[in-house]
Formats: sequence, C-alpha cells, structure tokens
Amino acid sequence: MDSVIDPLPRAAQAQGPQGFDYLIVGAGFAGSVMAERLASQLGAKVLVVDKRPHLGGNAHDQHDDAGLLVHPYGPHIFHTNSAEIFDYLSQFTAWRPYQHRVLASVEGQLLPIPINLDTVNRLYGMHLSAPEMGRFLESVAERRETLATSEDVVVAKVGRDLYNKFFRGYTRKQWGLDPSELDASVTARVPTRTNRDDRYFEDSFQAMPAQGYTRLFERLLAHPNIHLMLQTDYREVAPLLPWRHMVYTGPIDAFFDHRHGRLPYRSLAFRHETLPQAQFQPVGTVNFPNDYAYTRVTEFKHLTGQQHAWTSVVYEYPRDEGAPYYPVPRAENAQLYRRYEAEAETLDQVTFVGRLATYRYYNMDQVVGQALATFRRLAKAHRSVMERPLALGAQGLRAAVMR
Ligand SMILES: Cc1cc2nc3c(=O)[nH]c(=O)nc-3n(C[C@H](O)[C@H](O)[C@H](O)COP(=O)(O)OP(=O)(O)OC[C@H]3O[C@@H](n4cnc5c(N)ncnc54)[C@H](O)[C@@H]3O)c2cc1C
Repeated sequence: MDSVIDPLPRAAQAQGPQGFDYLIVGAGFAGSVMAERLASQLGAKVLVVDKRPHLGGNAHDQHDDAGLLVHPYGPHIFHTNSAEIFDYLSQFTAWRPYQHRVLASVEGQLLPIPINLDTVNRLYGMHLSAPEMGRFLESVAERRETLATSEDVVVAKVGRDLYNKFFRGYTRKQWGLDPSELDASVTARVPTRTNRDDRYFEDSFQAMPAQGYTRLFERLLAHPNIHLMLQTDYREVAPLLPWRHMVYTGPIDAFFDHRHGRLPYRSLAFRHETLPQAQFQPVGTVNFPNDYAYTRVTEFKHLTGQQHAWTSVVYEYPRDEGAPYYPVPRAENAQLYRRYEAEAETLDQVTFVGRLATYRYYNMDQVVGQALATFRRLAKAHRSVMERPLALGAQGLRAAVMR
C-alpha cells in the first residue's frame, strides 16, 4: 500500500503504460480480499478506490482521542466455522481469542442472551434443570404450520412471553418492522439453549485480530501491485483511468443509478462515549429490547482486551436514513434485488461481490468466503480479461452505468 490519500496524477503514474488490470471499488473485506488474491496469485495490477478516508469498510477500527481502540461503525466480532477462511486471514493477522457475551436488560435484570437455562430461571425465579427447561419450552411454544416470518420462528421455539420480552421490541427497533413482517432468516440463526452456555456465538473459530482490523487490512493491501486511492468515488476515476475489469463492492442499486427503485437498507447512528472509569458494563454488549431508543451498548475493551484506565462505549440507534448498513431481509426486497442481479449478470467487465453488491445480510467471514470463491471463478477468466483492450473499462462503464 503506497499512500493513504492519493490524488489522480499519482495513480495515473502508478498504472504505468499498461494501466490497471482490475479496478476494485471498495476497501472493505470484499474488495481487499479480491485485491490481495488478484495481485498475489495472478500478478495482476490492481487499483483499489474507496470513497471513505480509511481502509476496512464497516470493519474499520481506530484509536479514539483517549487512545482506546474503537469500531466507528459498531462492534465487529469475528467468528467462523470455516478453517479455510480463518487460515486465509491468519496470513495477515495474529489473533486474540475472544468469546462474545451479551446480556439483555429485561425487567430490571441483566439476563443472558441467547436465552439459556439461567435466563429462564432468573427471569421467572425458577430452578429448572436442563431437561425441565426443554419441557418448559415445549409447554410454552406456539404450534405453527409454517415458519415464514421471524415471529413464527421465535414463538414456535420459546413461546409468546419470552418472544415479547427479548425479541419483539429489539427487532422492531432494529428493523423498524414487526417480526411478523420480516423473513424467518433474521431470527432463525439465534439459538436457544437448555444448558448454561452464555457465549453469543458457537462457531469453532472466535477471535479478534490481535492488532485490530485496520492493521489486518493494511497487510492485506501491502502487495506492491496494489495501488490505493481513498476519499475517491469510483465514478470520478473509472472513466479517466484505463482498466480492464471492475470488481464492485458498493450498493448494487447505486451502481445502476437506482433505475429499478431503491433497495431498502437499514442504517444506524452511533453515539460514542469515552468515560473516566476502567469498566462500564460486565460484558461486551448489553441489549435493551424494551427501553430507550438505542438497541445496544458495547464496551470495546471487552472485545479488544486493551488495558486502559478509561473505557469507550458505543450506543446504536437504528434508523432508515443514512449509510447503507443492513440489507432488509424481506421477500419483495429480494425480488427487487434479483432485477439488479439479472442486469449485473449481463456485464462481462464487472464482477459484483460483498454484502452491499449482492444485497445479502452477510457476516465478515461470509464476505471473505464469497470473495475467495469469486476470485476462483474470476481467475479462470483472467486470461481473457488480460486480452481485453484497456480502453474497454471506460467504455464498459459508460455502457453499463451511464446509458
Ligand atoms: C453495525 C454493524 C455491526 C456488524 N457486526 C459484525 C460482527 O460482529 N461480525 C461480523 O462478522 N460481521 C459484522 N457486520 C457485518 C460486516 O460489517 C460486513 O459483513 C462486512 O464489513 C462487509 O464487507 P464488504 O466489503 O462487503 O462491505 P463494506 O465493508 O460496506 O465495504 C464496501 C466499501 O465500498 C465503498 N464504496 C461504496 N460505494 C463506493 C463508491 N461509489 N466509490 C468508492 N467506494 C465505494 C464503501 O465506502 C465501503 O468502504 C456488522 C455490520 C454492521 C453494519
């Protein structure tokens, strides 16, 4: 990586007489993994542009004024069941083992979430054993013929009262929609446990990059064939610089100028606070399903393991307007996405990858997996990409976007 902010003339110089083989839009996980693979495995010349002033997309982290490592776009906890993805990223970072724990503030108590034996016993003042909890859940669960919505999934597992206390309010705040209006997929991945396991995730690999995400991204992009331009919208440079193929990781509807309508995204406002105390709360995240406008509060030191006399926390306020953070999982949105996807598939010279470009509610590891798979497909076409005349990129952009 040769600069943080690079004006066009230097990028033009860096391309050399051959130009760039690949123009990559976005320096998040999707774009950075694609850049690393294309440069290191194929020897391709790669230009990465991002309109933000930093690397890492939403996974970016940085030190705040007090010197505490924080995640400006909300807490990012790495977890995966894929040894391939973990091994791949391990080339660029050491890890700090970390198992995330979350408590929900319900009726004046802080109770473990996902719901486990302690949650139920403490909420109802009971002393159930694991098998008794299983029978208790069966007795309160509501029978549902089909599990079409998020409400169906939860009430069929834990019944109405636990649904109302732990899920309904949180989901309504988070998505601005009632769980009965959201796809089953949103809550289907939240487990319920009859034991006392209070870890938020059950994946076989759970760890944080030892020196933070931004350091990981710096190493991913350190290859000499990779050139980086920050604070640059790709539309400013794509028509001016010669390139052969584009990898696009921004919102797919924006790529096509929203010509079929806007894909809905849920956004967040973050309120960061630094406090003159060593610890603020007992675990990494406390959820507030029923009170306040924010959904949760996260204290970063639990995640990062940083030793410091002060601590930093972030409050998350969901909202409709703002940066596109979460694709909204509803059937009609998936349908609208498919119209954009069909157009994307007609473009030989552009590949779409990542959470926003494929409108999928993906975690970091899934985005890395998607990028590695996309690279393998693209590598097969690499020879024909290299045979394309360089001007094709700019012409292709005009044909694809500006028609
Ligand atoms: C609040 C929050 C918490 C999360 N927590 C977790 C977690 O704990 N664990 C987990 O695994 N995942 C988590 N995620 C998901 C994780 O952030 C994503 O899976 C991952 O960062 C997606 O990477 P990406 O490269 O696809 O997209 P992004 O990180 O969004 O990167 C896309 C990049 O493209 C750039 N871009 C867009 N348009 C243009 C343009 N026109 N020109 C130039 N650049 C452009 C953007 O600036 C952005 O940097 C969380 C997400 C959010 C929002």
